[in-house]
Amino acid sequence: MSYYGETGPVLKKGLKKKADKNKKAMGEVKADKAEVTLWRRFSQYIRMRDCKIALTNPDNENYEPAGMCISCGSLKFFRDLECGHFVRRRWKAVKYDERNNSAQCNHCNEKLNGNEAEYRKALVLKIGEDQVKEIEDTHRDVTKKMDTATIKGLTAYYRERTIEEAERLGVEPPK
Ligand SMILES: [Zn+2]
Repeated sequence: MSYYGETGPVLKKGLKKKADKNKKAMGEVKADKAEVTLWRRFSQYIRMRDCKIALTNPDNENYEPAGMCISCGSLKFFRDLECGHFVRRRWKAVKYDERNNSAQCNHCNEKLNGNEAEYRKALVLKIGEDQVKEIEDTHRDVTKKMDTATIKGLTAYYRERTIEEAERLGVEPPK
């Protein structure tokens, strides 16, 4: 057997492995990018859902949706609200659970790290103790990563629902 004959298949095998690895990495990159878009659309939906009125923003004279922070009750314009999790989002099982997400002000969401005690009180009033407990009990479930098709489907779904919420408030949907 020649030198090339011996190493040829080994090289090929090695290259194929590398190619498969790259293919897999590309798929994951695609899914990760798609999930960034999904999160943006989901966050827009949650904040729009929690806006109960539209007001003229004195800063720019635009007619804008506004809603209350679930934890402290302060009234904020849509643009200043954040989508805050009750059970932290690293727990994938409840990351996109609509019950587990609410409009929050930046102070509660980031500076107070979710302002969880107040969040919980408000959430119990909103959806009831049983549902809150259900979120708390399921949050550690291990959930498989979503595939790109599922992510894209959810993205389109939440875009539609955001448009419906914008119509309810009589404002343009966010970009
Ligand atoms: Zn707040």
